[in-house]
Amino acid sequence: MGESIVIATWPFGETAVRAALAELARQRSVLEAAVAGAQAVEDDPTVNSVGYGGLPNALGIVQLDACVMEGTTLNCGSVAGLENVRHAAAVALRVMQRTPHVMLVGEGARQFAQGEGFRLENLLSPAALAEWQRRKAAIASEPGNSRRRRAARKEELSHDTVAVLAGDRRGKLAGACSTSGLALKMPGRVGDSPLIGAGLYVDDAAGAAAGTGVGEEIIRIGGSLLAVEEMRSGRTPQAACEAVIARVIAAAKRRGVPPARVALIALDPAGRVGAACTGDTDFPYAVGRKDRIELFTATPV
Ligand code: ASP
Repeated sequence: MGESIVIATWPFGETAVRAALAELARQRSVLEAAVAGAQAVEDDPTVNSVGYGGLPNALGIVQLDACVMEGTTLNCGSVAGLENVRHAAAVALRVMQRTPHVMLVGEGARQFAQGEGFRLENLLSPAALAEWQRRKAAIASEPGNSRRRRAARKEELSHDTVAVLAGDRRGKLAGACSTSGLALKMPGRVGDSPLIGAGLYVDDAAGAAAGTGVGEEIIRIGGSLLAVEEMRSGRTPQAACEAVIARVIAAAKRRGVPPARVALIALDPAGRVGAACTGDTDFPYAVGRKDRIELFTATPV
């Protein structure tokens, strides 16, 4: 790879890419850069799907999922159902660095984070609380299985993870993702984002990939690992993302349901990127190199 490169999901991916590039410019590792990228979005109160200000679960409690992975060693860490700590990706990094484990959940994850010096706080912003109340009321006011109730439920499923993939000039790769999960999710529900191989997978020998969208559909096919394996077998990141999205669509067909909204990003050790999505709307993502950050849109497969 000739230069450092960072790719991140959604328009707020620009924020993530900017923060990650700044870390790389300070000679930080690709892993530190990816975590810094996720953290910049976790700190943004206007993003209601990540970190502070994320939309809560059905009970009104914000529960965060996150993971990190480093492509040289395959070291990884993750947290799920983490409450009261906004920097979920950084906690996942500590799980990787300070424990012999890969994943901590719920109260154990919170206690670990507190022991590591992370500040406990209320993550429910006034705006997220108001939005949660509005959506709850919209669902409650629509009877049975009406079209509007289904629309309200669909809105409930619309949510966006920040996933950040970073690569440096030597071809070292790392990634981080962080989310509050599906809005109004069932308490205890865990999506793809903290699951290594589903929401994120990174291997310097092949490539890096991360997902966003309805996590259940990404978990079902092992989305990120599958994309990395496609790159290992010679596909470009773009072809790998498209192959995984085709698999999501095929899986939905087998189950007799319409394909859910899913998107994928990928980066290979040569610095090539890819992105693809299902659905009927485009998927915006940001790509940053030393001197420029650009927003692109992937069109549905
Ligand atoms: N993938 C996340 C989840 O299922 C949500 C999203 O990215 O939209 O929790």
